[in-house]
Amino acid sequence: MNNDILFQEALTHFPGGVNSPVRAFRAVGGTPKFFHKAWGCRFEDEDGRTFVDLCMSWGPMILGHAHGDILAAVAEAMQEGLSFGAPSRRELLLARRIKAMVPFIEKLRFVSSGTEAVMSALRVARGFTNRERVLKFDGCYHGHADAMLVKAGSGLVTFGIPSSAGVPVSYGELTSVLPLDDFEALESFFVERGSELACAIIEPIPANNGLLVQKPEFLKRLRELCSTYGALLIFDEVISGFRVGPGGAAEQYGITPDLATYGKIIGGGMPVGCYGGRKDVMAVVSPDGPVYQAGTLSGNPVAMAAGLATLERLTPQVYAELDGHAAKWAATFERIPGLKCPRIGSLLWPLFQESVRRSDAVQTGAITQFNKLHKAMLDQGIYLAPSGYEVAFLSTAHDDAAYADFEKAVAAVAPQFN
Ligand code: PMP
Repeated sequence: MNNDILFQEALTHFPGGVNSPVRAFRAVGGTPKFFHKAWGCRFEDEDGRTFVDLCMSWGPMILGHAHGDILAAVAEAMQEGLSFGAPSRRELLLARRIKAMVPFIEKLRFVSSGTEAVMSALRVARGFTNRERVLKFDGCYHGHADAMLVKAGSGLVTFGIPSSAGVPVSYGELTSVLPLDDFEALESFFVERGSELACAIIEPIPANNGLLVQKPEFLKRLRELCSTYGALLIFDEVISGFRVGPGGAAEQYGITPDLATYGKIIGGGMPVGCYGGRKDVMAVVSPDGPVYQAGTLSGNPVAMAAGLATLERLTPQVYAELDGHAAKWAATFERIPGLKCPRIGSLLWPLFQESVRRSDAVQTGAITQFNKLHKAMLDQGIYLAPSGYEVAFLSTAHDDAAYADFEKAVAAVAPQFN
């Protein structure tokens, strides 16, 4: 069992044997699989077992693994040098493409991860407004910048408290946390603290605590309140950007944020993030303005090539087709007794209860059921992200053959849930 041998060694190198905690199988039980090769919607582990992948590297691989055109673009860029640490043409090409797909992005900056994009956008918002407080929502994940590793304080306290050791309590006090879908809490928060607020940040399609689809009115009201109180609205579209349509959630809901953050798909599987939006706001970024933000590998030419080759292939027709396929996969998931599958585009959430809008509405029983599902599906050759709080990602490579395998797996596991 090569997987097990590798994992035993990994435990000696990395905390928990992994380089990102979400990869550990602690929530679902068992040990993580080691993969050595991926193609289309499938990948093979070190024991030689092939799985249909429903995690797709947590979102970037919307065109499938090892897509020929993307590999060719990367190979071409690679031949010309891995990193220059100076401007290169490919940064412009990707920026042009992003701006064409997301018209409110007037100026942007490339970074190397979603966390960095969010961390930088928060700094920009604070620098632009000369205010320190930020607002986030319980059930949204924004990467692991200190300001975002904060949960709601108890009772009526509007200050957050650190949700990770190592985050200073005083940082938490500058982050306020509200529940999603709570219109009253939103109104009273802004009355009380709106004028202190640098920005509100939200995943317009919260997809890190399951899929907590929001009422459009909630997002619209948040937009209005931010404008009224002079706070910036940041849409964290690290998952939803280029996933739910060319213009992401902002386009889908018809709401324009002041800044947005992206990652995952814009790198086509390479480490890329970006933040951008209003040009008057972006004018505060160094070297034009006083907000410092930098990166040795930012705008890396090979990563830019992967991102560009990916975005160039994401046409409205591709999204329409993906949506149609995803509807079929979600309906098939629901053949499992008790399972509902909330969905937006190619984001699916296998959930053993009715769909919810708030993180505290997710029942522990539903997660226990998911853990059982995870193992059962894995045994059938279907790889789901190893936590009931994670969504499934489909790609254009989830073809009829994969669907047939999925259908067979669902039929095999369904009796266990009667
Ligand atoms: N924001 C959102 C909405 C995310 O989903 C993630 C990662 N899943 C991040 C930020 C952080 O991105 P990264 O893991 O690339 O740092």
